[in-house]
Amino acid sequence: MYFSKAFIPTLKEAPSDLDNISAKLMARSGMTRKLGSGLFELLPLGLKTLMNVMKIIREEMESIDGQEVRLPLLLPKDLWIETGRWDVYGKELFRLKDRKDAEFCLAPTHEEAITDLVRSHVRSYRQLPIMLYQFGIKFRDEIRPRFGVMRAREFLMKDAYSFHIDEADLEKYYKRVYEAYERICQRCGFKYRVVEAASGAIGGNFSHEFMVLADTGEEEIAWCNCGYGANSEKAECLQTEKIDLSPMLATEEVLTPNIGSVEDVASFLSSTKEKFIKTMIYVADGKPTAVLVRGDHDVNEIKLQTLLGCNELELASPNIIEEVTGAKVGFAGPVNLKKQIKIYADFSVPNISNAVIGANKDDKHIKNINYGRDYKADIVADLKKVSKGDICPRCKKEKLQFSRGIEIGHVFKLGTKYSKSMKATYLDAQGKENLMVMGCYGIGVTRILAATIEQSYDENGIVWPFSLAPYKVSIIPVDFKNQEIKEVAEKIYNELKENKIEVLLDDRDERIGIKFKDADLMGTPFRITIGEKNLKDGNVEFKARKDDKSKTEIIKVTNIVGYIKSKIQEKFK
Ligand SMILES: [Zn+2]
Repeated sequence: MYFSKAFIPTLKEAPSDLDNISAKLMARSGMTRKLGSGLFELLPLGLKTLMNVMKIIREEMESIDGQEVRLPLLLPKDLWIETGRWDVYGKELFRLKDRKDAEFCLAPTHEEAITDLVRSHVRSYRQLPIMLYQFGIKFRDEIRPRFGVMRAREFLMKDAYSFHIDEADLEKYYKRVYEAYERICQRCGFKYRVVEAASGAIGGNFSHEFMVLADTGEEEIAWCNCGYGANSEKAECLQTEKIDLSPMLATEEVLTPNIGSVEDVASFLSSTKEKFIKTMIYVADGKPTAVLVRGDHDVNEIKLQTLLGCNELELASPNIIEEVTGAKVGFAGPVNLKKQIKIYADFSVPNISNAVIGANKDDKHIKNINYGRDYKADIVADLKKVSKGDICPRCKKEKLQFSRGIEIGHVFKLGTKYSKSMKATYLDAQGKENLMVMGCYGIGVTRILAATIEQSYDENGIVWPFSLAPYKVSIIPVDFKNQEIKEVAEKIYNELKENKIEVLLDDRDERIGIKFKDADLMGTPFRITIGEKNLKDGNVEFKARKDDKSKTEIIKVTNIVGYIKSKIQEKFK
């Protein structure tokens, strides 16, 4: 493509209503334009990049026997009534009526539609397993669309669904999809981690999220070199043994005037936060409840809510705390609570010897408290947030590491959730009717563009991995009106095209500095500069986008295409 003919409206400044790096760089490089809140147009450069992502995904889906389909985006209400999701989906579902008053939704996901398709054709175990996938627009009425295409109201997903005769067959296939997703991440050039999305209690491996690592990521991941990974909100904590076996001392009430916070009491008593038991009062579905964690830990409210099985959970107000403990805020403890309430303790709490607790009296704490002798919990469980220094719950050896990430893919064993409600059955070899067992597998395709940029950019713009780059090479003639330069530029251009290497020739009548800036902004992996001085010796200048500004190479005109081909081969070795 000649730049003068291309529709690549680059911008010096990003529009002020874009709120993250990738959205800004996508707008500035001419990939996208914002049409309205959560609505983005993909311009030719953006679509070209998206097609590169789709090509990789499509090849990997075909490699695991996936077959591509395309389902309507407008879905009838009846299907959603069958699964009960019409009522539970809430306000994120775009709902609308046609001229006959029939109700529809704009698809946020396609489990209903695909199950309807498969149940209408698949009758026998001989037709299973089957995997169908599509690239489809999804709609979500986000309460606050943000982060450019990452949390938009309309976006492209690759969604895939597999149908099996039983759990064992799903299990086998799930592994193949997992491996295909890993290949997709590798081919897109990601630094990534796979995390268990479900809590350990449910089995841990029935759902996995693929996270692209980026400091700007929305989510925090806890991971270990042994392969364990989890969203840190959901990461399990290892139950440790009691190490401090010092003898129990006599309890002692101490005056701590107006000192309520763990830090302050610890320093006042010349103790450490680890010696403390923090007593948090929560209200779960209207009932006050005490939760104990070590002084240097925090309560994981997701784990607590799962354990309590409650719908609503909130920290108690100062009034309720006084009512329950008999003291002002900051002096709660598990001994002598004014009101009898349930006490839940984190695993690590009973291990604290001679602990410090609030006395449930104003300005007083108690020292030398020991589990069993002085207090007991109704339930001891994993209730704390993972934190720095925690040991991996899987290998039980190494310390957990923490990174930020962006979720780009999710694989899920659905089981019979949809086949049951929608009666998707098959006949087995004995002629008996059984429910199909399902898996579903999603990738946020537009999201991949944004996630890649968040992971790979610098002060000059995007740094595309080779596989995704819309153009692999930029040819920059210093002066395209110079006949000799023009001829060489066009010769290299044609030769690259013959080798099926995507190339953009910057034939614009612009200053060289502007041409360099745009090439860097667009993240083109390789740049060839053609100027009079080098050309005298039959040379051109080569630069890789990833390299330092000063790192350029002088290459013979006759060798440049071969040189680029060898660079590409290096990448795919
Ligand atoms: Zn580990």
